[in-house]
Amino acid sequence: MSTSTWPDKRRATLVGAAVNLVLSVTKIIGGLIGQSQALIADGVHSLSDLLSDALVLLASRWGSLEADHNHPYGHARIETLATLGVGLLLLMIGAGFMIDSVSRLLNPERLLAPGWVAFGIAAVSVLGKEALFRYTVAVARRTDSALLRANAWHHRSDALSSIVVIIGIGGALAGLLWLDAVAAAIVAIMLGWVGWRLLGEAAAELVDTGLSARELDALAATIAAVEGVRGHGRLRSRRMGGRIFVDVRIGVDDRLTVLEGHRVAERVRQRVIDQLPGHADVVVCLRPNGSM
Ligand SMILES: [Zn+2]
Repeated sequence: MSTSTWPDKRRATLVGAAVNLVLSVTKIIGGLIGQSQALIADGVHSLSDLLSDALVLLASRWGSLEADHNHPYGHARIETLATLGVGLLLLMIGAGFMIDSVSRLLNPERLLAPGWVAFGIAAVSVLGKEALFRYTVAVARRTDSALLRANAWHHRSDALSSIVVIIGIGGALAGLLWLDAVAAAIVAIMLGWVGWRLLGEAAAELVDTGLSARELDALAATIAAVEGVRGHGRLRSRRMGGRIFVDVRIGVDDRLTVLEGHRVAERVRQRVIDQLPGHADVVVCLRPNGSM
């Protein structure tokens, strides 16, 4: 059923990629001509964003595919794997720019002297990225895609990063050349931080981290309240892309017929699906009350 959200995800990602393409080329060339290390760092950041857009596009494509015979749980983990890759990439690029900034600050003769062109490009970048954030977060809400939501917040952090660049270039224009290099270092830290967070989220999902204790307590209360349920156990959960997989054992009266027991299990399954956000996949195992 998630295939229907694919065109929306694709459009949002393509719009983001187009903006990133324009911004990366403009900022890198503008940074070289306008002599701003911070703007060049921001431009390379946009270039890495373009690459992550390409990954998101591929991931959403495969991740939205229905289950098949050798991927019976669907393909959502492809999103997770792509997120892991993007996280690693951002972390490495951030480290590279950090090293460059520090080396320029330690050798002031290597500091650049930015001009007004660089300042103007950074200002346009802030506006473009904020608009992109608002658009992408709306699509993420509609399609319930965690990856798109992460991408939307990434756009906003990009806008913030360009604000830092504006401050750096403004300071340099006022004669404080080191401010441009400091801005480049801050851009590098922000880039690395985004990478680190993506890496953490993806890793947590890859090792099958379940729902929080609070969410599980709420689920347990819902299950216990279903008519016919005499007890339950082994409530387990894990995430896969935008999906949540849950399995639980429920105890029912030993004297119920198979059909009656099945109806209780179906009620439990439906309540759990209703309570969880996004697409939940729920398996209910039926047990006679005495052997829970
Ligand atoms: Zn970015």
